[in-house]
Amino acid sequence: MINKHYDNYLDLTLDTEIRNCIKEKDSYLYEFEDTVFYFESGGQHSDHGTINGIEVSDLVVRNGHYFHVLPEKLENVVCHMEVERDFRQKQAEIHSASHLLCSLINRNFNARTIAFYNDSHEAYVEMSFETMNRETIQKIEDLCNEYILKDIPIEIEYPAYEEVKDKFTDAKLAHDILRTVRIDGIDYDMCGCTHVPSLRYLGMLKIFDFEKTSRGYKLYYLAGKMLRERIAQYNDILDSMSADFAVPAEKIPEAVSRIRQDLRDSRLETEEYKEYYLESVAERYINSDERIVFGQFDFDIKALNKLATMVVSNSSKLVFFISNLGEKMHLVIARSKDLEIDAESIFRDIALANGLRGGGNRTFAQGGGLNDPGLLFELTARYGNIELN
Ligand SMILES: [Zn+2]
Repeated sequence: MINKHYDNYLDLTLDTEIRNCIKEKDSYLYEFEDTVFYFESGGQHSDHGTINGIEVSDLVVRNGHYFHVLPEKLENVVCHMEVERDFRQKQAEIHSASHLLCSLINRNFNARTIAFYNDSHEAYVEMSFETMNRETIQKIEDLCNEYILKDIPIEIEYPAYEEVKDKFTDAKLAHDILRTVRIDGIDYDMCGCTHVPSLRYLGMLKIFDFEKTSRGYKLYYLAGKMLRERIAQYNDILDSMSADFAVPAEKIPEAVSRIRQDLRDSRLETEEYKEYYLESVAERYINSDERIVFGQFDFDIKALNKLATMVVSNSSKLVFFISNLGEKMHLVIARSKDLEIDAESIFRDIALANGLRGGGNRTFAQGGGLNDPGLLFELTARYGNIELN
């Protein structure tokens, strides 16, 4: 829709009359004599705002008619429209920035525009680059900011068909009214969106990241208010980390690296203590007079297996070790090489009766299932006195 109100991105209020109203389920769809609301098109999102103080829930186009969806009926014929400034400003700024960014890349870096996207926090352009690196990103960003400082006007024009018929494709010319956007020396294109009046309104453009796609590269960038909000958000994160680490923001990388080293050291230390503890527990079983031993622990599976292996490798024993793992449990049955009893066959019997899953071989079998507090007692009663060779 060509709407002259869109030529000034801060044309946000209007008193107008209802032309048509359709009631649909719980909503009222209003068409007005005129509107300042932007209806999603050209990659720019629909405006937010109110009509007579009532929040507009959606903006829809049906058969060329522009409807404003409201949750309740309007009482007056003359209505007051008010578009939300913050959202409109961000849309106009980031869209204008995409004109600058894409055109400078088209002209200076030999890459086509494949796609562009923005919401109210994030924006990217997808360009047909074959390669990309930090240096090129910096060059693009510097060039954009040079032009922002030149404060070139962003001019909206309504040329006659004859004036522009050689400049654009037939698809772009297939409109009753032609609307062009000109940023002198940078860009001249058909566009129906809202724009800021000149490049200085963008303040600054920053490219945060780039990402390879199947068609080229996405460049994640921000400008204007969205950029200021992102910087404020990053600043809050830095402030909070700075307080947590009790260092100034520029010392955070050093503090993180120190903490990572401390973590590595303490993990190694913990491993050593675990090993020492397992050895001392194993020692108790190795030195026990019993040949069939039972034990219940809260180790992880790896530690339980290790304990069982330590015991059966250093004494002539059959072990039944259980580990409680919250709602689950793990059972290990292991025997020394000098014994003949089949650990796996014992495990299979227990597994069948107690709904465990797992398996193993004649010397070592293991598996798990739901925690059963009575299992150790049951195993002691059933296997405590079996004959071993
Ligand atoms: Zn545009």
